[in-house]
Amino acid sequence: MKYDNNNIFAKILRSEIPCKKIYEDDFVLSFYDINPQKKIHALVIPKGKYVDLDDFSEKASPDEMVGLLKGISFVAKKLGISVDTGKGYRALANISEHGGQEVPHLHFHLFGGEKVGKMVE
Ligand code: AMP
Repeated sequence: MKYDNNNIFAKILRSEIPCKKIYEDDFVLSFYDINPQKKIHALVIPKGKYVDLDDFSEKASPDEMVGLLKGISFVAKKLGISVDTGKGYRALANISEHGGQEVPHLHFHLFGGEKVGKMVE
């Protein structure tokens, strides 16, 4: 799938619409999900234009890959849900149609602050 520059996360990255920012560096932006599914529900997105994890794995640079993984861990620590700072969390990426992806810019959901429950319905 071709990257859609008008997807909602692209607009957030361009500061065209607001977000409740948690963290930002050269590689990632993290903000709270607008419709939280758990006590803590954050999103971590790469700054590069990648539709989903497959697209990212194929095209992202090694620095971008490391940056995304480190960003996820950093945000979990900052939110107090990492193994170090809390009781753990779930990181989840929906991929395309069967994965239930709604926004076509790669994002990881971070769920925590309580038991997250069953892995899939
Ligand atoms: P997915 O189904 O994995 O594509 O998840 C998309 C997520 O983006 C959903 O959990 C939405 O609640 C969330 N979302 C949509 N618009 C916004 C927004 N403007 N700010 C924060 N989160 C959003």
